[in-house]
Amino acid sequence: MGQIEINNLTKRFGSTTAVDRLSLDIEDGEFLVLVGPSGCGKSTTLRCLAGLETASSGDIYIAGDHMNYRVPQNRDIAMVFQDYALYPHMTVRQNMRFGLEEEEGYTAEERDERVEEIGEMLGIADLLDRKPDELSGGQQQRVALGRAIVRDPEVFLMDEPLSNLDAKLRAQMRTELQRLQNRFGVTTVYVTHNQTEAMTMGDRIAVMNDGELQQVGEPLELYHEPVNRFVAGFIGEPMMNFVEGTYDDGVYRGEHIEYPFDERMREHVDGASEVVLGVRPEDLELHPARDGAEATLGDHQFPMEVAVVEPHGNENIVYLNPVGETDREPLLQAVVGGTDDPEPGMRVVASIDPETVHVFDARTGEALH
Ligand code: ATP
Repeated sequence: MGQIEINNLTKRFGSTTAVDRLSLDIEDGEFLVLVGPSGCGKSTTLRCLAGLETASSGDIYIAGDHMNYRVPQNRDIAMVFQDYALYPHMTVRQNMRFGLEEEEGYTAEERDERVEEIGEMLGIADLLDRKPDELSGGQQQRVALGRAIVRDPEVFLMDEPLSNLDAKLRAQMRTELQRLQNRFGVTTVYVTHNQTEAMTMGDRIAVMNDGELQQVGEPLELYHEPVNRFVAGFIGEPMMNFVEGTYDDGVYRGEHIEYPFDERMREHVDGASEVVLGVRPEDLELHPARDGAEATLGDHQFPMEVAVVEPHGNENIVYLNPVGETDREPLLQAVVGGTDDPEPGMRVVASIDPETVHVFDARTGEALH
């Protein structure tokens, strides 16, 4: 059973704390994505799990066994790296078989059969006698995966395994990895800085920043209920709009936006004064503004002017400014359907449904909900 328990893991390099008191339980068979910006400590966490780094403090258990002092070969894990790390002088068959050399309980014939079987499954059976430099990036990636899979480990550790592939192949391999994981049910820890990979692949996502775990949860939980501004900004594409302001007596006042909170929101926000309003671009509704619309605006509606429209085919990203303020960083971004095509300079009314609004404490960044 490949469950993983990480208790208070800290890893320091000189004065840098790469991982700071990280605790995380990963279930047997789970696909957990570790995500965060460059330098947040994802790879170091994975390398500690693999035994390639020694923890400064804290404990790691895999399948209930204490791992801290075990060499990588005795951890029953297989690792897939960004650069594939294939042996250039060996054929694909030899590379994959190499993964099995240390495994006990296989006859030579069984090893060959296993390589053939996994090669077949990954669609590289006809490449087994080629060397790595005779393969495309995507094919090399499959071989690296194959080498990990032949060993039938308890745990897969993957560090940005798709980042060297072009966008189309990356999408294809994403689906393939998920299919493999469903089929084998091997516990997988997958490191990426790409939030789309995290959202689409993870059973759960663990978001890190500055060596610290920010939140762990199912993708939609992180999307709908981020615990702080960092997670809210990291999960979701395009990024959540943030507008800083103040809160007093049930009303938020920010740049060009005055927003009365309903009972439910007040309960959570009362007591705070400096706050940040968070609105997902896809939660912002736009309507064309008719003449005199300003006079009839509702509590949660704002007059805006379209600054830029970015067409994406199935949808448009619309950048909005307060009316008459064209010469500035856009205040808000909205996502609208591809058939709605507002023009730059057009006046619109933006509606923000109170059900979808997020509020953060401006000082601590913590969500007030
Ligand atoms: P990336 O996405 O860029 O790979 P990451 O989130 O995986 O980043 P880590 O590689 O874990 O981040 O690095 C975390 C911090 O630890 C960084 O500040 C990095 O510079 C530092 N660090 C990592 N490895 C070492 C090392 N061997 N010696 C010194 N500092 C290190």
